[in-house]
Amino acid sequence: MKIVLASSNPGKLAELQAMLAPLGFDLVRQSDLGIGEAAEPFRTFIENALAKARHAAQASGLPALADDAGLCVDAFGGQPGVDTAHYASRLGYAKSDANNVRALLQQMQGLANRRAAMVSTLIALRSADDPEPLVAVGRVEGEITQAPRGGSGFGFDPVMFIPELGKTFAELPPEVKNAHSHRGRAAKAMVDLMRQRWL
Ligand code: IMP
Repeated sequence: MKIVLASSNPGKLAELQAMLAPLGFDLVRQSDLGIGEAAEPFRTFIENALAKARHAAQASGLPALADDAGLCVDAFGGQPGVDTAHYASRLGYAKSDANNVRALLQQMQGLANRRAAMVSTLIALRSADDPEPLVAVGRVEGEITQAPRGGSGFGFDPVMFIPELGKTFAELPPEVKNAHSHRGRAAKAMVDLMRQRWL
């Protein structure tokens, strides 16, 4: 079965392709089918992921898979959430991973509650009209450090300390991070759902 991925990110395609391969699914990027990006006007991951999946299914006539992800900080009532990728720009910094981290540490200065979660929401639709979307959420909880630590990974990895591993994501080898990451957990749950419901 061919499935369209509602993302243009090559890294995500490779990760998800590898996870869906055992199910015999062939994942193609929407950009490779000439489909543009959907608007993401909503305040929750689930609404944005659904909008992206529906847009891709509608434009391609194929089943679609979409994801929406971000960082949810306990002390900020779950923000920045859907605004995570634009965190730095909202505080007046240029858009970059390093500035996202800088902006977060600045906003959390003096806060004792450092709890935060990286969250990934995956949604799959058989068609644009599918009344039963498959929804899989992956979450990893950690503590935001006082300063960046470690050189691997990307995004908020240098400040995302995982208590059960005793390290930040950026201090861990990629395979250890991926085994514990929000994205890996969501993808595993989605594969189980597709196996139960679509095959
Ligand atoms: P995306 O939607 O998965 O591209 O991620 C949204 C935001 O979360 C971006 O600012 C990413 O840098 C950040 N992010 C996503 N996944 C991770 C991760 O595994 N570690 C650290 N930051 C991440």
